[in-house]
Amino acid sequence: MKQHVLVTGGAGYIGSHACKALKAAGYIPVTFDNLVTGWQDSVKYGPFEKGDLTDRHRLDAVFATYTPVAVMHFAALSQVGESTQKPGTYWHNNVCGSLCLIEAAIAAGCMQFVFSSTCATYGDQDDVLLDEDTPQVPTNAYGASKRAIEDMLRNFTDSHGLRHVVFRYFNVAGADPDGEIGEFHRPETHLIPVLLDVVDGRRPALTIYGTDYDTPDGTCIRDYVHVMDLVDAHLLGLQWLEDGKSSRVFNLGSGHGFSVREVVRHSGTVTNRQVHTVDGKRRIGDCAKLVSGSERAMNELGWAPKRSDIRVMISDAWHWHQNGYYGR
Ligand code: UDP
Repeated sequence: MKQHVLVTGGAGYIGSHACKALKAAGYIPVTFDNLVTGWQDSVKYGPFEKGDLTDRHRLDAVFATYTPVAVMHFAALSQVGESTQKPGTYWHNNVCGSLCLIEAAIAAGCMQFVFSSTCATYGDQDDVLLDEDTPQVPTNAYGASKRAIEDMLRNFTDSHGLRHVVFRYFNVAGADPDGEIGEFHRPETHLIPVLLDVVDGRRPALTIYGTDYDTPDGTCIRDYVHVMDLVDAHLLGLQWLEDGKSSRVFNLGSGHGFSVREVVRHSGTVTNRQVHTVDGKRRIGDCAKLVSGSERAMNELGWAPKRSDIRVMISDAWHWHQNGYYGR
């Protein structure tokens, strides 16, 4: 019999790709999403349950209906800039929502939990490759909220035996190569989709947030990882838990850093179009450089990223941008 997995945020960018991968792997992904930032037309691979993570009664009912073997928890507010303006919203939505979800999962006896955390929990570290043992010193409310949820999970593992895998994502990019789903936020703030809006003329220019960072070209460096590689890791994480292994944290990144200007250059090459940019001020909360050491995921989970080449990520995002994105 097929097993259910509860996917919070399954109507969002990463969650919808996870649902597709779960279905392909023989699971039934049950999307739980409040549709504040997600899209119902991205829920294509299993049942949809509309609800908010802070609604314990709704969660209890969903756990009772499906008796999922695991939770994959993607639902979150995730914009660094916004989190510096509205920290309360981030703490309430991300932290209170996760607490309610964790307690509901434990009450239902669903003791396997995969959690989307972030490299933003590391904060600004001087020119180091960030591995899982790097101290977490977030510089914005988004990163702080995710770190708090990691702490919470550890506490519930100790007290109740909730086994969990935490994935600390670096910058997720790209789209389903089949073109069925992709990244779509409203408003869009992430670098690659904003750049593609500029490339196809929907925005006049990309504002580069800061050109005076202590990096070779003065712009921020990030490690971009393909959403398909990311969801592969989630299936391996689920298998890790199904095999009875203990709670573990894994970074997910490509190990290669690209500056904003380098991403702009690659976007021009991939799309064969001009990209207009304007030099702007730093965005509050941004770090100069975030690059992953992901050896643990490779060595212990057997994770092998296949599409996390920057050109492939931009190309898959561009394909989605042209074919699926504005159909909404
Ligand atoms: N960025 C930028 N202009 C934009 C959007 C992003 O210069 O319109 C920069 C941002 O400052 C960061 C990098 O691109 O250094 C990636 O930002 P994004 O919002 O995509 O992801 P984040 O790193 O904040 O999670």
